[in-house]
Amino acid sequence: MAQYIIIGAGISGLSAARLLKEQGEEVLILERASKPGGLIKCDIVDGHLFHRVGGHVFNTKIQKVKDWFWKHFDRNNEFISATRQAGIYLHNRYLSYPLENNLYKFDEDTVKAIVSELLELEKVGKRKFSNFEDFLKGNFGETLYNIYFKPYNEKIWKTDLSKVALPWLDGKLPMPDHKEIITSNILRKEETNMVHSSFFYPYKSGSQFIADRLSEDIEITYNIEVESLEYKNKHWIVNSEFEAENIIYTGDIRKLHDFIKLMSSSLKNRMEQVKELKSNGTSNLLCTTDDTTYSWLYLPDKDIPSHRIIYTGNFSKTNYPEGQRKSCTVEFSGNTPLEEMKKTISKLPGNLEIVDHNYEPNSYVIQQNGDRDKIKSLKKELAEYNFHLVGRFAEWEYFNMDKAIESAMNTVAAILKQNS
Ligand SMILES: Cc1cc2nc3c(=O)[nH]c(=O)nc-3n(C[C@H](O)[C@H](O)[C@H](O)COP(=O)(O)OP(=O)(O)OC[C@H]3O[C@@H](n4cnc5c(N)ncnc54)[C@H](O)[C@@H]3O)c2cc1C
Repeated sequence: MAQYIIIGAGISGLSAARLLKEQGEEVLILERASKPGGLIKCDIVDGHLFHRVGGHVFNTKIQKVKDWFWKHFDRNNEFISATRQAGIYLHNRYLSYPLENNLYKFDEDTVKAIVSELLELEKVGKRKFSNFEDFLKGNFGETLYNIYFKPYNEKIWKTDLSKVALPWLDGKLPMPDHKEIITSNILRKEETNMVHSSFFYPYKSGSQFIADRLSEDIEITYNIEVESLEYKNKHWIVNSEFEAENIIYTGDIRKLHDFIKLMSSSLKNRMEQVKELKSNGTSNLLCTTDDTTYSWLYLPDKDIPSHRIIYTGNFSKTNYPEGQRKSCTVEFSGNTPLEEMKKTISKLPGNLEIVDHNYEPNSYVIQQNGDRDKIKSLKKELAEYNFHLVGRFAEWEYFNMDKAIESAMNTVAAILKQNS
């Protein structure tokens, strides 16, 4: 019997496993796929690196995550340090990112409308917002909202933005200062300090490199879908086959209701309450492209169903065959039919040619008001049974890799303290 079974070999499960192993604990990971990585998995297709769920880069401001992460990698020799060159492709022309620093490129009437709205908002001062739509309108004004923020975000979230909660987007959103926007436009200053404005990228194998390294020396059973979890005599029995004292679950919180047998009625209730949480999948096209200097390009236009192109060929020269065209990943939210994706790329710059495509059913979690409290109570009650929720889909948080690692660190520290 293992002391710990971890369900899922994505970045959360791998980090938790390593952290436990570093403390001398016995760990077994069960993973339904045939290799580690989850959302960060990549494959090589015709010599091109394909981030199956969209291009992934690494950075973090969390010191303990930085310290732990770089203990496992050689930052100078195994990673490339890059500065983001983000762009926006709007109405067939390129603008730099963030859009609000490019107002001087709009026509006079639009600039007047945006500036007068920003000045009005400045007069109103700081306010609290209850949903994503109000936040965007209340920070950038109606005109910028309608030109960019609404169409772009509606493409990703595929939902009414007024239903999207705010707290979980913390740290992911641009927090504008109206004076700074106007100053940046007069001085024509570019952004430097936003999320992922600089990042690290593995020299070889993209984010799969991170998953492969973290999985070294960890016992992982692949190709096994966990479908049942039973709690008996203070032990967990997984798929009637594996036994452990502690479970760390990094899969989909909505599935727990179907998996877990014989729990208290209050727990059943709590699991029932999170059954209907909303999420989106992502469809990705791997394409070859003409050369560009961009790292990625945002696509707010309504008539272009994709929301982003990630120029992965620019991240590392090992990401495409030597002497050939570079590659990029074109990202669509939801399950987009291949025919629609093919039509879309004819509207995009770069003479894109398709190499491969992929659909991942679960990639963007959507948190609505009230969801966080439900998850918090469930998490707390499950922890009493030595069952811990960690990661993007288990905690239903819009985590980047660093937040997933941080959560694994906090959970492992708490478990070890409780068990000592
Ligand atoms: C399009 C996109 C772009 C992103 N870009 C970045 C970026 O540039 N930088 C960044 O830091 N973050 C990025 N992220 C976020 C990042 O992908 C996530 O934070 C991270 O990968 C989440 O890892 P996880 O382990 O929590 O979940 P997952 O990666 O989903 O891992 C869960 C694992 O559990 C397995 N599993 C689930 N259920 C079961 C079961 N019942 N039985 C067995 N196995 C199971 C799954 O197969 C999977 O391998 C991006 C996310 C998306 C969607």
